[in-house]
Order: sequence, then structure tokens, then C-alpha cells
Amino acid sequence: MYTGSCYCGQVKYRINGPIDYVVHCHCKPCRKVAGAAYYSAGFIAHSSFEITSGEGLVKTQENIWNQQNPNVKRFYCGECGGRLGVHISQDQLLNIAINTLDQELEYDIGIHINTESKAPWLKIPENSEQYRQFPPDMAEQLQRIVHQ
Ligand SMILES: [Zn+2]
Ligand SMILES: [Zn+2]
Repeated sequence: MYTGSCYCGQVKYRINGPIDYVVHCHCKPCRKVAGAAYYSAGFIAHSSFEITSGEGLVKTQENIWNQQNPNVKRFYCGECGGRLGVHISQDQLLNIAINTLDQELEYDIGIHINTESKAPWLKIPENSEQYRQFPPDMAEQLQRIVHQ
């Protein structure tokens, strides 16, 4: 089990399950919304996710960068603006901003994706798995999470 919260701490959540698929996304929208070199996302089944306090503060935003996929909605704390994650498909899948977790993931997490649009000044460690675009098995991985 994992717990996490936004920057101001008023929105808290719990994950009743594993986080075993993590991506560090270097695409332009992720860099913009994270205000950082990349967005680190842990994918989980929606059924394992629960907001435990501050639900009324949670705001969502439509996927303004890719209107072909209206089910993708970012969610964040309306009070502090801290982003929490992204709903990928209604009731099935979401990803959580890994850095909002209360626990530190000690193991080597994540693959770097969409590196073709990475910040030019950023050096990704050579031994980490990386893809210029989306990894070919990503859809498969996400299906696995929904059905586990
Ligand atoms: Zn907050
Ligand atoms: Zn991205």
C-alpha cells in the first residue's frame, strides 16, 4: 500500500496495490505541466486508487494537447495547484505523479519515454531503458495493469 498527497497536504490519497509500471515522460506537454525536465508517472488500476481527504479540492483538466483522446484528464489540487496525476480511461486506469508519494521507491524505477523531445541539457543515465517515442509494448503493459 502507498499513500501520497499534494504540495499543501490537503488532498491525500491511498493506493491499495502495486506500482509496477513507471515511465519518465519527456514529451512537451508533460514537461510543461510538470514544470520540470520530465514527468514521472506510476500507472495503477483505478480500482486500487482512493482519495482519502480533500476530495472537494480536486480539479481536473481536459487533455488540451490531444483532443483526439478526451478520456485523458489531468487532476490536481485546486488549492495549491500541485498536480496529482492523470486519468487515462474512465474507471480503469490512471497514473499518479510518483513524486507525490509519501514513500520513497528505493528500487530502480522507470523507463524514459518520448526522449526525442527531451530537454537538450538533460543527460539520461546511459544504462536506463529509453525510447525516442512511446515504447512498442506500452499499450500491452497498460492492459495488464487494468486486468491484474
Ligand atoms: Zn494542495
Ligand atoms: Zn508525456
